[in-house]
Amino acid sequence: MNALPFPTHEVFIAGVWRACASGETLPLLNPSDGTLLAPIARGGAADIDAAVAAAQAALDADWGRLTAAERGRLLLKMSALVLEQADQLAQLEALDVGKPLKQGRADAVALARYLEFYGGAADKVHGETIPFANGYTAFTLREPHGVTGHIVPWNYPMQIIGRSVGAALAMGNACVLKPAEEACLTALAFARIAQQAGLPAGALNVVPGLGEEAGAALSAHPGVRHVSFTGSVAVGALIQAAAAKNAVPVTLELGGKSPQIVFADADLDAALPFLVNAGIQNAGQTCSAASRILVERAVFDTVVARMAERYRALRVGPATADLDIGPVISARQRDVVQGYIDLVQASGLQVAAQATLADVPAGGFYVRPTLVAGVPGGHRIAQEEIFGPVQAVIPFDGEAEAVAIANGTAFGLVAGVWTRDGSRALRMARKLHCGQVFVNNYGAGGGIELPFGGVKHSGHGREKGFEALYGFSSLKTVAIKHD
Ligand code: NAD
Repeated sequence: MNALPFPTHEVFIAGVWRACASGETLPLLNPSDGTLLAPIARGGAADIDAAVAAAQAALDADWGRLTAAERGRLLLKMSALVLEQADQLAQLEALDVGKPLKQGRADAVALARYLEFYGGAADKVHGETIPFANGYTAFTLREPHGVTGHIVPWNYPMQIIGRSVGAALAMGNACVLKPAEEACLTALAFARIAQQAGLPAGALNVVPGLGEEAGAALSAHPGVRHVSFTGSVAVGALIQAAAAKNAVPVTLELGGKSPQIVFADADLDAALPFLVNAGIQNAGQTCSAASRILVERAVFDTVVARMAERYRALRVGPATADLDIGPVISARQRDVVQGYIDLVQASGLQVAAQATLADVPAGGFYVRPTLVAGVPGGHRIAQEEIFGPVQAVIPFDGEAEAVAIANGTAFGLVAGVWTRDGSRALRMARKLHCGQVFVNNYGAGGGIELPFGGVKHSGHGREKGFEALYGFSSLKTVAIKHD
């Protein structure tokens, strides 16, 4: 890898790059070929202590004194720098996450757009006056929580940093970011961009390290006033319990088993690309992946055949070859996903199509994208989050059964509905138990402006859109008696 404009093996605290307290490093692997990419810092509790202290100091000094408009301008500067560096960021994400370059570039553009959206919104969030009682003036103030903790996963580092750190900074919080140990190069590049933009020291601190060390220390730290976590259900529960000891609010963006529901009257030509892409994008490692495709029986065979055709044409290969799909993140993840593919075969389910793996490097972490047809709604393949390029196609008869199957998992993140019947679209949107419903599209161009989050095991709290700004602030009510 070419020399990077930041030290990969250091932490970024109080505006300074330095070795972590233990001096130890962790290996970062390139998922495309399994080779060592770079050593990263093994940040731990002492580094989290230092980062939280630096964030608090920033709130008490330069960062805390900026006006909302000044904070917004800094975010806009960061947005412009991200766009300028989008190709380098895409390259980092390709090496680190195994994302095809075009996906990495799209993530960089999304990060820039989050910073633009929240930069523009920073001075537009305000309280209200409240008609209360004669002789009083009452109003509300929106204030930052203080130090916020951000624990992010490896699958979309740039987008998740944009939506959580971007919104938190806009509201005047000071952030401690703990990227995933599997992929943290763009988080470190983001720290460098903050430096280049002139963000006051301590407003953003980045501490790579293991989840059970740096992550656990951050979620339990008494100086942290809000924790935003994106990741697995099991770790989300640990984080909520740790934060509860300090009575600190958390936003949990967890997993999903999101359905796209195709009615017989749907425009199939419009639906087809979304049905497949939303399942295999980022090798299926997307919290909102459409891992279940529910199809009304009259068009079931047609939809399966047309999806299968697309699967057979998918090209899988190293991220820098910029094909349709790269590797999954790690050998462990490959084994988990392969375990589900083996289960499909052992259960006698119908494999409608599998993409081939041609010329992939031997040491890389590749799986064959697999389309499974006629899966019973209660089967493990239709219930558990696989986090790999495996989609289950499930037949249904009529609206009521579609709703029952769609709502019949532990998750509730996103759903898609494909129909030409406007009344049915509205009925379905109300009956689906999840955080977002898309009608005749899925994902809506990244949805930077659209509040996002889950119900049930998909989590709680909302990020993205204006809603995130409320989550990253607390409301104070002031009542003044004047005569
Ligand atoms: P993970 O929960 O193992 O790790 C996520 C982050 O939590 C990492 O930074 C990790 O270091 C940290 N962590 C791990 N153990 C910790 C602990 N004990 N205390 C504090 N922090 C800890 O998840 P993962 O395997 O990295 O990511 C995959 C999961 O994330 C999937 O289930 C996926 O659905 C979910 N996800 C959800 C969204 C969303 O927006 N809803 C987005 C991306 C990923």
